[in-house]
Amino acid sequence: MMLFKELVDVYERLKATPSRLEKTALIAGFISQVPADDLPVIVTFLTGRIFPEWDQRKTGIAGQSMIKIISSITHNSEALVVESYKHTGQLGLTAEEMFAKRKQQTFFEPEDVTVKELYETFAQIARASGAGSATKKQKILIGILNRATTPVEARYIVSLAIENVLSGAKEGVMEEAIARASAVPPELVRRAHMLTSDLGETARIARLQGAEGLAAITIQPMRPVRPMLAQNVASIREALDEMGGTAEFEVKYDGARLQIHKRGDEVRLYSRRLEDLTDALPEIVGYVRQSVTSDTAILDSECIAIDRATGRPIPFQNILTRLRRIYKVEEARAQFPLNLRPFDVLYHNGQSLLELPLRERRRVLETIVTPLNGECKPAEGLITADEAQAQEMFGASIRSGNEGLMGKDLNATYTPGVRGKKMVKIKSVLDTLDLAIVSAEWGHGRKAGWLTSFEVACLDEHSGDYLVLGRVASGFSDEELIAMTERLKPLITGEHGRIADVSPDVIVEVKFEEIQSSPIYNSGYALRFPRLVRVREDLSPEEVNTFARVMNIYNIQQRYVSKPGEQP
Ligand code: AMP
Repeated sequence: MMLFKELVDVYERLKATPSRLEKTALIAGFISQVPADDLPVIVTFLTGRIFPEWDQRKTGIAGQSMIKIISSITHNSEALVVESYKHTGQLGLTAEEMFAKRKQQTFFEPEDVTVKELYETFAQIARASGAGSATKKQKILIGILNRATTPVEARYIVSLAIENVLSGAKEGVMEEAIARASAVPPELVRRAHMLTSDLGETARIARLQGAEGLAAITIQPMRPVRPMLAQNVASIREALDEMGGTAEFEVKYDGARLQIHKRGDEVRLYSRRLEDLTDALPEIVGYVRQSVTSDTAILDSECIAIDRATGRPIPFQNILTRLRRIYKVEEARAQFPLNLRPFDVLYHNGQSLLELPLRERRRVLETIVTPLNGECKPAEGLITADEAQAQEMFGASIRSGNEGLMGKDLNATYTPGVRGKKMVKIKSVLDTLDLAIVSAEWGHGRKAGWLTSFEVACLDEHSGDYLVLGRVASGFSDEELIAMTERLKPLITGEHGRIADVSPDVIVEVKFEEIQSSPIYNSGYALRFPRLVRVREDLSPEEVNTFARVMNIYNIQQRYVSKPGEQP
């Protein structure tokens, strides 16, 4: 029976090992000693999770609750615990610090905690629900924390309880370690991981059944898999070239990804991050029951909201409020009713379709999804080799308020969790903004006498204020800098140091990598790597992009950003 403190030792060694190769070797060596029965829990714990990714259980211990727990168990005042937390920034470290300053020692020699016991304790905490559950959860955790033999062990129990183990192994490292520990090909481990959403189970199968066992793993209803992801391409042409001349183009809906699992009347809906959203989206469940004719199926889809008055898609933020909703589902549903656009099928009547080419999966999809007016119908698609025809579809998609097009390789299999060029996205102008120049900086050296770097701002549509998003200094030729200086000089309203404030009459189109929240500018956000695309002489100052538009892009972008610990 493995003791938790042995695992603590591994966490500590991982923390001290910056090299990915050494981490992999360390974990491989360790897990090859672990008995097969303990393997799933230990592998999962090592990645910093308590339960596998497909599993919806959470301990549900809030930060405030953890502060109470640490205080009660170490006999330090809550104020002191909070003080410690302010400087450590991590509840685990605070637990360690408070344990070291424990006011009262226990009278008995505590019995070492085993990994299995800890897992069962967390499962018990996860089960506690309803009235008084917070207190119940606290009691259970206190029971096991009392048996921590060292402050460091207490730190890891606390960090794991809130799934915030910073020295845990990244998934990629763990996949390689599993492959090495069982001498199986890493691609098979990765595939098994993507299909099971369970690294612990993957490790167990690798150990007990080897490569053959891993290869035999397939998807099953009610067990979500990571969705296949798309790469960006710049144009329809590029998409066609990637796909060998012909592609399936589909409308890229601006909604939320939903993976739909159906077994008889039972329907479950999973987010891109495999969270179970079934209870939040009752109408979608209804549509699936009505529309999907197969007995068992796994579908990939986008769910969208349509404004009934205008027939146009409603911005993604409003859909988000639906996905996060646990209470008042019916009210939210009345406000933003959702529609469904299935675009792929992964499993049908007892069989995995992952290995079929898209062309055939799409055919199956059309036969099993019975369109229900606008509420549920397969994503609009067009198979073509004709760039002009696809371009027309792109224009139509944007005009009707969608994000652009997806381009898909008709011969491609469905590869869960892979972001590749078998499925690409062609978006409109998501990554540029039209912004006003509000100040500029005088250059020096060769560029003395020129304005060389420009603060750009969007317009707050409510107050009429300009909100700064960043400083653009690249993308200009010398000629452009000279022309820009001439253009801005008459607009200067004041100067301080090297900075000249200008009235916001010059609009530039700015490209950037990402929008980040940032305390530097008065907008609260900053563009990452902003650069000039062109000066927009054709736009008037009222056409500067609004802060609402910036927020819209920011929110869309949030969906593409990985969680900590997730593969990029
Ligand atoms: P990404 O998430 O960056 O891979 O971008 C692709 C996203 O576009 C998918 O995750 C879906 O949520 C969404 N999407 C909208 N319409 C479609 C479609 N017809 N096919 C595939 N994905 C779509």
